[in-house]
Amino acid sequence: MIATTNNQKHQFQRQGILFVVSAASGTGKSTLCDNLRHSDDFIYSVSCTTRAPRPGEIEGEDYHFLGKEEFERRIQVGGFLEYAKVHDHYYGTPKQPVIEALQNGTDVLLDIDIQGAQQIRGCIDPIIQGSLVDVFIMPPTFEELERRLRKRGTETEEQIQKRLATGREEMKLWKSYRYTILSGSMEEDLTKFRALMRAERYLSSRLTLL
Ligand code: 5GP
Repeated sequence: MIATTNNQKHQFQRQGILFVVSAASGTGKSTLCDNLRHSDDFIYSVSCTTRAPRPGEIEGEDYHFLGKEEFERRIQVGGFLEYAKVHDHYYGTPKQPVIEALQNGTDVLLDIDIQGAQQIRGCIDPIIQGSLVDVFIMPPTFEELERRLRKRGTETEEQIQKRLATGREEMKLWKSYRYTILSGSMEEDLTKFRALMRAERYLSSRLTLL
């Protein structure tokens, strides 16, 4: 970022931002994150999970698919920035790549559940505290959430019911997030997200004048 005053160029260096996006599953968050992750704006943090890959999911791109033992070993060695059990499976964010990116001034996007977001809010690491921007995506109605979840067609009826019940509980926690986006069309969600992303990039506290 460059400004000019008295012909002298002012130059800033910026610390990376950790964008944490949560929503009840089915809200449209994954579609939003899929659109964002392919932009040059961030690196997308690929989570580890013990759940089985869905048809079309690619190892290392959608998730790192791990066995329970390997996941638990990584918990023991402190390999996760946060981890949680969601719908009976472990999910976790590998720590090292996130810290390194933030230190290099690269923004990072995390698509994680509310438990993970809570853990990151409670993280005492100054790099994480200074970089965190948490965003909750709220479905327009609960009925729409159910419709979107069913349309996906990847879960059994039992899994759908479980996700809906979890979603209802998760939606109560929207106030804990710095930003809340009321989900509309894909384009509307992207526009809203990009607006807050741009503002956060001008936050003085993350800038150093060189
Ligand atoms: P899905 O099985 O539909 O891919 O994801 C289920 C839920 O797990 C979603 O809400 C997703 O955001 C969340 N999730 C994915 N990765 C992580 C992670 O690394 N940590 C946590 N806490 N949740 C995750």
